[in-house]
Amino acid sequence: MEKMKNIQRVNLVCVGSELFFYVVNTNIHIANKILEENGFELNCNVIVPDDMGKIIDSVIFCINTGDAVIISGGLGPTFDDITRESMAKMLNKNLIFSQQAWNQIQERFKARKIDSIPEKNKRQAMVIEGAVMFPNEIGTAPGMFFEYMGKPVFLLPGPPVEFENMMRKCVIPELIRQRGSEIQNVFVRKGFGIAGEPESIVEEKTEKLRKDIEFTGGVWTILALPYLIELWLKLPVDKKNLFEEVENELRNIFQDSFLGTDGMTIPQALALLLNKRKLVCCFAESCTGGLAGHLMTEIPGISSCFNGSIVTYSNKLKKKLLKVPKTILRKYGAVSEQTAIAMAKGARKYGKADVSLAITGIAGPSGGTIEKPVGLVWMAVALTNKNVQTKKFYFSGTRSTIKTRAALAGIDLLRRVLLREKK
Ligand code: ATP
Ligand code: MG
Repeated sequence: MEKMKNIQRVNLVCVGSELFFYVVNTNIHIANKILEENGFELNCNVIVPDDMGKIIDSVIFCINTGDAVIISGGLGPTFDDITRESMAKMLNKNLIFSQQAWNQIQERFKARKIDSIPEKNKRQAMVIEGAVMFPNEIGTAPGMFFEYMGKPVFLLPGPPVEFENMMRKCVIPELIRQRGSEIQNVFVRKGFGIAGEPESIVEEKTEKLRKDIEFTGGVWTILALPYLIELWLKLPVDKKNLFEEVENELRNIFQDSFLGTDGMTIPQALALLLNKRKLVCCFAESCTGGLAGHLMTEIPGISSCFNGSIVTYSNKLKKKLLKVPKTILRKYGAVSEQTAIAMAKGARKYGKADVSLAITGIAGPSGGTIEKPVGLVWMAVALTNKNVQTKKFYFSGTRSTIKTRAALAGIDLLRRVLLREKK
């Protein structure tokens, strides 16, 4: 019988020169999540360009410092895909043509209705002598598995969907087989979102809760996103009922600022609330130029509660499309409480909505004055023609960050007004 191995720390090598200049390495998140769910730990991640010497060096480093190594990328057909060759060199083995791999590649092309397969793709059918081949259910490059210095090494394609599929279907079963059935240290994660509060305030208000969680062996991470703070907790699986207690406590502390769990975004939270109340909204945007509307339309099926956003950047369009009175614009200016109110009323009426949001401000870098500095944004939420609530914000940052913050703060304001109204 095969001796069970102590497989705890898994190292990941991501190969690809593109990871140094324009592709963000997301395979680390996929690997971390899947390993964690199965009781393994992602110990370290090395990112290496398409360079044979560097690939071999980093794989050897990872073999020396971990119990297993996963390599992603560089299995494609193009000149820069050299992971296969590098590993053959490291093992001092040959690459041999696999008819089985070639058949699978041909089938992939047939499924995509491509008749003539480029000769280059034959490279993908080359398998390291003695390695086990993993079929690729999504792309063309097969994965591979071999042992080096008594440790399992996996070669996986780089594209994230292919990487994830092979992680779940091939790598994890093999790691579990080698480790034996005894699973230790399985962790689970949960995220909690808090909108519109500064990071330091969130930190301060949750300090006691954090210490309690850390005392039970959990990990507490705080992540600052635009207009949103996310707390990500990692707990040993047998303590996962603590998540409910944490959620209740956070709801208690943050009240309407508590947004939701597991990566819930501000637009998603608003959509949830609107759908629950069977309400439809419409926006009127000036300085955000349609960004708030864009953020809403990132959600599939949003037409159930979002009619659209009327983008009126110029005063001319504010008058023409939203019927903002000329006198208001002249007397108070485009960035004013009065204009925001008129815009919200116009959006509600002409956008045929139950409720509306208006955003008008100065995104900068120029155009600010002492009374109206760059970053000043007036917002209005119209629940009815008579019930219009306003709020003034001062945002800092570049033009682009001010626009992002204003769009999210506006969406969040509509959510808060709706929550308050029901109480
Ligand atoms: P292909 O047949 O697609 O070339 P491959 O195994 O050779 O497969 P790579 O060439 O390394 O994979 O990567 C293909 C594409 O997959 C990259 O251009 C990139 O868009 C994406 N990709 C690769 N590695 C990563 C990573 N670590 N994180 C996110 N995306 C990645
Ligand atoms: Mg490639």
